[in-house]
Amino acid sequence: DGGMITELSRPLADLLNQERARFAAEHPRSAAMAKAAAAHWRGGAPMHWMNDWASPSPIFAAQGVGAQITDVDGKLYDDFCLGDTPSMFGHGDASVAAAVSDQIKRGAGFMLPTASAAIVGKLLAERFGLPLWQTATTASDANRAAIRWARAVTGRPVILVFDGCYHGMVDDAFVVLKDGPGGAEPVMKPGLLGQVHDLTATTWVVPFNDLAALEMALASDQVAAVLAEPVMTNCGMILPEPGFHEALRRLTRDAGTLLIIDETHTISTGPGGYTRAHGLEPDVFVLGKAIAGGVPAAVWGVTAELSARMDEAQLRIGPGQSGIGTTLSGNALAMAAMRAMLTEVMTDAAYARMLAGAERLVAGLKGVISARKLAWSVVHVGARVELVFADPPPRNAGQMRKVLDHEAVEALHLWLINRGVLIAPFHNMMLVSPVTEDAAIDRLVAAVDGFAAEMGN
Ligand code: PMP
Repeated sequence: DGGMITELSRPLADLLNQERARFAAEHPRSAAMAKAAAAHWRGGAPMHWMNDWASPSPIFAAQGVGAQITDVDGKLYDDFCLGDTPSMFGHGDASVAAAVSDQIKRGAGFMLPTASAAIVGKLLAERFGLPLWQTATTASDANRAAIRWARAVTGRPVILVFDGCYHGMVDDAFVVLKDGPGGAEPVMKPGLLGQVHDLTATTWVVPFNDLAALEMALASDQVAAVLAEPVMTNCGMILPEPGFHEALRRLTRDAGTLLIIDETHTISTGPGGYTRAHGLEPDVFVLGKAIAGGVPAAVWGVTAELSARMDEAQLRIGPGQSGIGTTLSGNALAMAAMRAMLTEVMTDAAYARMLAGAERLVAGLKGVISARKLAWSVVHVGARVELVFADPPPRNAGQMRKVLDHEAVEALHLWLINRGVLIAPFHNMMLVSPVTEDAAIDRLVAAVDGFAAEMGN
């Protein structure tokens, strides 16, 4: 069980109040901008997630350089959130900036392919191993397209996901397991606004790392596709147990079910994502966020076999039709950015730096845990590191929900913000970029240690 909650020597509420007051005193300009913005942006920000940080009001960013952000109050932050992944190779990268500014002057939206498109397609195929690709503007859109195609080619209605997953604004993935009197039951995720269909009929959900439940669901022959992150990164972080991915692939193949691997976060593993590092064999590979260095873009790749089945399905519905696609997808700007990312930014050398930084962070956090005898643990996949308020770390989302203490998470995050460190909201996930300095990693570790000391551990 989580040591955090049981070992507190002073109420979290006191700490939160103290830290909120400190934030308010030190961020007068952000507060004023939030107040002014609230007249015309609902909630004071152009997208409501920007309000989801632990700070009492949004931090208004002034600029990002490398792995640091300055806010409008002149505060400097070591950024381990990196926009929740799009900037995981650093802010203001010179290669991306040059490619994007050059392209925007020559036109961005043609609804025609450019010379970069041909190059990017080849680079994607070489890097990730799937031969045929399409673009979308967000990872959410890419996942929705993959789901639609999976149902179209298999003629099956059901999508199977793992409890605790997040794949973006994808209604089909908003089904979770809830403890009921007769055991865990699938229900629509609380907070799914305005959904009038019962998604549990066509989305099934099983616990991560539970091969028996997976096998039982697949035996129905109703499942078009399993949609999965190779490592769960949206309910804390949960690693697959040894043999899980081999079994997932074998069982889906035997059942005629497609395997969609969403690498949007696990691209932190290495240059070819978790898929290449661990020899996964997805039918569909999805990647958003970082692929265009902050220009909104996503890609999804398919095997030659699936592509042929898609062609057949296309013949049945007629050419040019699908109900899939958005106007800005694959535009010249996104292509220019992806080309720069794939050739100059997401390099083996960059990954070597990120992975070394992550090792340093993991070692530092483990040092804090052992020195203070905390019942915490550290989970990581390449450059993505999670501090879990439980030891051992949970093996599925049901266990994670029991130990994820939202107040403690909020207190840690606000503590870090006030000490010049940003980590992604909601849980304790930290991304290390190739330009994150060792000194910044050490400052993060020291701030976590300070938090633990403050909590009396
Ligand atoms: N897939 C995964 C694994 C994600 O974590 C997210 C967003 N956190 C998405 C897809 C959706 O990305 P976007 O919000 O850019 O559509």
